[in-house]
Amino acid sequence: MTSSYRINYQLRAHKRDPLIEFIKGLLLTPFVLHAKPRKPVIAPPTVPVTGELTNRRGSSGNNGSDDEKNDYQEEEKPMVDANLQRYLEIMKSVEVMIEEHRRKALKGVPEHSRLHRIVPSVASFFTPLPLEAAFLVANAKHSIAARRFVPPSFNDIRRVLNTAQVMAIAPTLRLITFDGDMTLYDDGTSFTENSPLIPLLIALMRAGLHVAIVTAAGYPGDAVKYEERLAGLLRRFDMEKLSEKLLERFYVLGGECNYLFRCGWKQNEAGQSVVGLTYIQPESYQPDEMLAWKHEDIQELLDVAEENLKRSVASMNLKALVLRKSRAVGIIPSDTGIKIAREQLDECVLSTQQRLLEYQQMSADTKPAIPFCVFNGGNDVFVDIGNKLIGVQVLQNYLGAAPGATLHVGDQFLSTGNDFATRSSCCTLWIISPEETEGVLKELAPLLPAESE
Ligand SMILES: [Mg+2]
Repeated sequence: MTSSYRINYQLRAHKRDPLIEFIKGLLLTPFVLHAKPRKPVIAPPTVPVTGELTNRRGSSGNNGSDDEKNDYQEEEKPMVDANLQRYLEIMKSVEVMIEEHRRKALKGVPEHSRLHRIVPSVASFFTPLPLEAAFLVANAKHSIAARRFVPPSFNDIRRVLNTAQVMAIAPTLRLITFDGDMTLYDDGTSFTENSPLIPLLIALMRAGLHVAIVTAAGYPGDAVKYEERLAGLLRRFDMEKLSEKLLERFYVLGGECNYLFRCGWKQNEAGQSVVGLTYIQPESYQPDEMLAWKHEDIQELLDVAEENLKRSVASMNLKALVLRKSRAVGIIPSDTGIKIAREQLDECVLSTQQRLLEYQQMSADTKPAIPFCVFNGGNDVFVDIGNKLIGVQVLQNYLGAAPGATLHVGDQFLSTGNDFATRSSCCTLWIISPEETEGVLKELAPLLPAESE
């Protein structure tokens, strides 16, 4: 099928978030109508003006015609107040639309909501979102309403949504899950001991929350590999002498949803007590559908993905290597320092997604479709068996947390990212760096119920 819609989708949809674009469009109207540039200050003339000049500008010191006056904002404060008021009205309206969408969803007909009609791809909302209150917080930090040349941006709205989500979920939060790369630490690096996120994670555990890292990094059943990636964090847990009860609230789920580890004290090779991770056998937490995935079906799916990735590497002449694991296949730069362009990574993702969906459609009569996830990891592309939606659901069932009491924090929420899938099963925060994760956790911490240990 070739149509303008499809071309548009291939070119743009994977780089856009429809709800954020919708809100951005609404806020643009008051910005255009009311956030006019400041009236220029005309210094009093220091030399006698000619009669001609006096006549042209007017004798009363008025510096322009009525038309020219309308080009500018006369007063500073009223502009900010009026603009803020209009932005707040819009945020309140969206808040009300989300509430209506939630009511319709509870009745089983989310497609009847006004929001769904305007933004058909809108996800589920598991809590209300106090957008008006959140906008005030964001405005205090980023002076959104005072800006005359830069309208409310994608990032402004993303942060407002995060703040609203934090405000709404704090009283009922039970499980908080984090992506790894770019959420807790920089791409491909490890958790360092001096990360400012560590005291914040410990505070979450002390407040009685279950904390889990749900990461694409897949090392089948290998606790040591995950312990290496999280060495700084585990060492700090050790130094803080956290109790076993507290450590049991911390989990790592690797390979999107495939390998679960629990934190706790254990003996190292020298017989010393250290904080580490213990592998949990899949039978004790994976649902029957997951346990039914057949090894040969997984390998066949990965074969198809690998073939497509190899073709993409060859056709775009990428300096990349194909890496095959037991439940994943991907491409990584062939040398350190090589950066693959985002467009090329997205091309690999979209073409592989398409190829795998076609493959599953063709073999639908002979084998069950195994869930998979193809994503742009920033400087690599991976196809993983399973996805973070299943990962979050596995943890929700294992730890007893409802979607409205679960929060996933990640940086890959475009449709080519692997955090995107979690939106169907829990509340989410879309951050773009470990620094922003620190920011949202600092907003969350004071709103949590008193520490229970
Ligand atoms: Mg990430």
